[in-house]
Amino acid sequence: MGCERWTPVEAVLHPLGVVFLLLTGVFPLPAQPPPAPSAPSRADILRGEYGLYRANNDLLFYHLDIRVDPEKKFISGKNTIRFRMLKDGTRIQLDLHAALAIEKILLGDTALQYERELGAVFVDFPETLITGRVYTIDFYYSGNPVETGRFGGIAFRKDPSGHPWINTACEGIGASLWWPNKDQWRDEVESMQISVSIPDGLVDVSNGKFMGKTGLGDGYTRWDWLVQYPINNYDVSLNIGNYEHFADRLGDLPLDFYALPEDLDKAKKRFVQARGMIEAFQHYFGEYPFQKDGYKLIEAPYSGMEHQSAVTYGNHFANGYLERDWTGVGISPRFDFIIIHESAHEWFGNSITAADVSDMWIHEGWATYLESLYVEYMWGHDDALKYLNGYKSKVRNTQPIVTQRGVNRTPPQDQYFKGALFLNTLRSVVNDDARWWALLHDFYQHFKYQNIMTEDVVEYFNQKTGMSLTPIFDEYLRHPALPVLELKFDEAGGAVSYRWKADEPAFAMPVRVGTKDHWEMVRPTAEWKTMKTPLKKDEFEVAADLYYVNVSKM
Ligand SMILES: [Zn+2]
Repeated sequence: MGCERWTPVEAVLHPLGVVFLLLTGVFPLPAQPPPAPSAPSRADILRGEYGLYRANNDLLFYHLDIRVDPEKKFISGKNTIRFRMLKDGTRIQLDLHAALAIEKILLGDTALQYERELGAVFVDFPETLITGRVYTIDFYYSGNPVETGRFGGIAFRKDPSGHPWINTACEGIGASLWWPNKDQWRDEVESMQISVSIPDGLVDVSNGKFMGKTGLGDGYTRWDWLVQYPINNYDVSLNIGNYEHFADRLGDLPLDFYALPEDLDKAKKRFVQARGMIEAFQHYFGEYPFQKDGYKLIEAPYSGMEHQSAVTYGNHFANGYLERDWTGVGISPRFDFIIIHESAHEWFGNSITAADVSDMWIHEGWATYLESLYVEYMWGHDDALKYLNGYKSKVRNTQPIVTQRGVNRTPPQDQYFKGALFLNTLRSVVNDDARWWALLHDFYQHFKYQNIMTEDVVEYFNQKTGMSLTPIFDEYLRHPALPVLELKFDEAGGAVSYRWKADEPAFAMPVRVGTKDHWEMVRPTAEWKTMKTPLKKDEFEVAADLYYVNVSKM
């Protein structure tokens, strides 16, 4: 999601709404200048930077094989890590939270030396690892992981009937909170095996395809899962509980659902929304990305998270978001926000992934925009526009959406709502829906299963549209303020002058003005231009539902 960056109670209405702006011609003074971001900590750099000891290797495979003791809140086991060297070297960087002990790290039978610094583990090899060769190490660890973050990171809870209920959700804090891995975004393993041993009678739902369970004869059972696609570390998840399972299919795609026994009836009614969701996103983007692994929806004690092929759900079995009308315009109560938003991440976040957390809008801006595509698929364009524009009340415009690279720090919440409103604006700039749908589909297909940066998105859109969209992307993603369309009226002369006031000097976005029944496309630049209009100042409108801009009338 994570919905970690914001909550319904934080959803403050901007003191000056856009409607008000249009009527009065006032636009908000830049409120408080945003606080300068504090200098990144050593820990944020160690985990955020793609340094030499990460860049010298390419992950191929993990086998995470652990035992989880619910009573002692204790994890022990190992991660087998296979990687290919991209550069000769004797050291690689892995990560494991300082609260967890390293038992040993083995290359075959050889115990490797290592050095720990905060969450980083620098592993040293006795001989140079050679470019192009594949190596496998076994990283043994144990301990009581720290419960931290809004969703606990890893939380050892009890369900209402007193059974253990253990879930992970570690997007911000990082997967190395509970297991050793190369904890960054750029390099994903190509596939992964997950083996989780838990007390008999409990169920573990992790990512990928269920391969079977094996009684270990000591009161524990091992649950085996196989992830057959690249996966982000933070998507790797445990859901251990007294789950009941039910199944469905959508064509060839297996749908598997897990809920607590007391919630089973509610879950059976609610989780059918997954079908329409998958149909909608397949309509726009193509096949569900993790066909071989299936789609799972799993009840969890927090609102929800996009764990790959194993989406977690805690939205109170009610439409809207945590029983609220999320964008406040009457559309959100028609569907379950968590099922739609978190599952949208299967396409944007899990299949297409940002290579650095700085560019996380590729996950959140897109997933939020996909909510509106779902609305459009189900109820039409007018409702989609209404839903999306409801998000304006949540935008702050105080910090850029794309943040500093190489630092483990989640970008501001504008990446969600402003990100989605920006994509809607881009659709208006393309100004040809058939072309827009093809662009979205082809963009997804081109980059699926890859880790990309904003530059890749911009280059693709420039190339496919033949337009110079870079200043528009940069204005919305790399500056805090919205562009302002300045309008200067000469009512006696029947004319209006217009120009953009924007942070990007080359910002020249076309925009529709006039009245709802007779929009006229103008192409403002930073220089004043004049057009004839019979409309008075208070009649002259800007198509603010189609373009997310501020307007200043003079
Ligand atoms: Zn999200």
